[in-house]
Amino acid sequence: MTDNPEFERSTRAITAGRDSSGGSLSPVLWPSASFAVDSFAEARKRASTPRVTNFYGRFGNPGVQDFADAVGELEGAETALAFGSGMGAISTAVLALCSSGQHIVAQKQLFSSTTQLLRGACARFGIETTFVDGTNPEEWEAAVRPGETALLVVETPSNPLLELIDLERIAAIKGPIKLVDSTFGTPLATRALEIPGIDLVMHSATKALSGHNDATLGVLCGSEDLMMWIWGYHTMHGAVASPFDAWNALRGLRTLGVRVRQQTDSASAIAEELTAQDSVSRVYYPGLADHPQAELVKRQMDITAGILSFDLAGGQDAVELFMDALGLVQIATSLGGPETLVTHPTTTTHAVLSPEDREDLGIGDGLVRMSVGLEVTKDLLADIRQAFIVSAGSR
Ligand SMILES: *Cc1c(COP(=O)(O)O)cnc(C)c1O
Repeated sequence: MTDNPEFERSTRAITAGRDSSGGSLSPVLWPSASFAVDSFAEARKRASTPRVTNFYGRFGNPGVQDFADAVGELEGAETALAFGSGMGAISTAVLALCSSGQHIVAQKQLFSSTTQLLRGACARFGIETTFVDGTNPEEWEAAVRPGETALLVVETPSNPLLELIDLERIAAIKGPIKLVDSTFGTPLATRALEIPGIDLVMHSATKALSGHNDATLGVLCGSEDLMMWIWGYHTMHGAVASPFDAWNALRGLRTLGVRVRQQTDSASAIAEELTAQDSVSRVYYPGLADHPQAELVKRQMDITAGILSFDLAGGQDAVELFMDALGLVQIATSLGGPETLVTHPTTTTHAVLSPEDREDLGIGDGLVRMSVGLEVTKDLLADIRQAFIVSAGSR
């Protein structure tokens, strides 16, 4: 088996999470919403067993737990818990770990539904959030209120401008629990839980972990103690993972290594190509040698992954012409899958923010986010080049 810690994470992904499969090489699907028992005593026992996987679907499911275990193994976590989506994982963690009167510190540039959760639901329940420039560790340190700040919410690399947060500096902050959304990097890029002081790593497994746009899932990885507490909340909150989605994700996870390597290779080539285009004013990709945080990229990311963003000098009109001229590359909002996708944050993922908030975050109307898929690099480059020619001609 490949569960030897000496092996690379991509190797371990191939057999991770097989506890319930009984020797079957493919994952086993357990669609049952409930489980029958032989006796009164057994029913009673299961009902009071924390994190039980064979009692009732909302409490746990064998295949869903296999999937969570696989991600937990890749993260080097004591344990992991799956959710019905990335937002299910984040909202459950935040509501389980914070009470009225407590305080959260988060970075300004976040997945926008996370921002909505903190600004909306949390504020309504009397949990205040201070938003900081995530790239400046001193702002994080200064925003923490001793005895009051319960949680730091960190996302690295961030959506959509791929900024890195220095996890060693975050980990050194004493007091609050530190939650890291590592969706963009995957466990192959960022080894967040290896840094003492980082408590929880979260993934939207809807993205690269499942990798095929056929599952909506979230995962939290961390200590047994924290997860036991969060599990109680997850069971009340009901943001639990579908067995079918977990089954798809466990199949997808097997190829995480080859997929992320291919996507990284293509993303690097595309970032270089974009840099050479006159109509592109800026490219955001951690793999570029002139990335403003190049030293941190080197220290904190083992591989720079397949997501990049870029500004078109012509603004939203130029984006519309460019996107409509793409053929192979598709317009859709997600990332980490086999198809190369583009999205316009201003009118889609970040449309809920005010224009002032977007400007403050550096999200301009000419920004395009691209999730690089598994197509052959040269075909992607050809499609992007022709789209620039066509869109320049139609202006
Ligand atoms: C997609 C995403 C989420 C939310 O995940 P869902 O599965 O869509 O709920 C959270 N954080 C990041 C960075 C994401 O990309």
